[in-house]
Amino acid sequence: MSIPLPSKPKIRLATVSLAGCFGCHMSFLDMDERILALAEIIELDFSPFTDIQTLGICDIGLVEGGVCNAENVHTLRAMRAACKVLVALGACAVNGGLPAMRNHLDIGDILSQVYDGRAESAHETVPDDPELPLLLDKVHPIHEVVLIDYVIPGCPPSGDAIHRVLCDLIAGRTPRLNHDQLHYD
Ligand code: SF4
Repeated sequence: MSIPLPSKPKIRLATVSLAGCFGCHMSFLDMDERILALAEIIELDFSPFTDIQTLGICDIGLVEGGVCNAENVHTLRAMRAACKVLVALGACAVNGGLPAMRNHLDIGDILSQVYDGRAESAHETVPDDPELPLLLDKVHPIHEVVLIDYVIPGCPPSGDAIHRVLCDLIAGRTPRLNHDQLHYD
């Protein structure tokens, strides 16, 4: 009588969007039917794809978006602590991207102009509800806050590039992107 071998545990994957637009997460879905094969070997943890709100120990973490507020810092540090391999996914995570265009402006001036100058809401002031995360002076790429293992550049990176990196990591290889999978827009 043969004894059934224990099945191999699935790779646990967490994904998060900090100061991002979810475009990188949408690009993940561009893998199309290849997602079905990945689903055989990957189990999603904390992720907008699942809406799971708790973060467990994971093999791989994908981080979209830069760091623009105190909550982003907390979430990113938690991802670093939980994920054996942490990957910066997309231009915003790699270099701050579009949100970092505010970095040459004073954050106080921006908030005053947006909230204090609205004619239709003369009594409206800059929101200061304690539940709102505190904005940082600058938007930071994620490597300025935690150690990052790999980056996938692009705005957004293609589904091909994300698939390639995930397959390499799952196979225990150092991820390598082909020239046509690398772009820096
Ligand atoms: Fe959105 Fe581009 Fe930033 Fe990804 S890199 S979060 S697609 S703006």
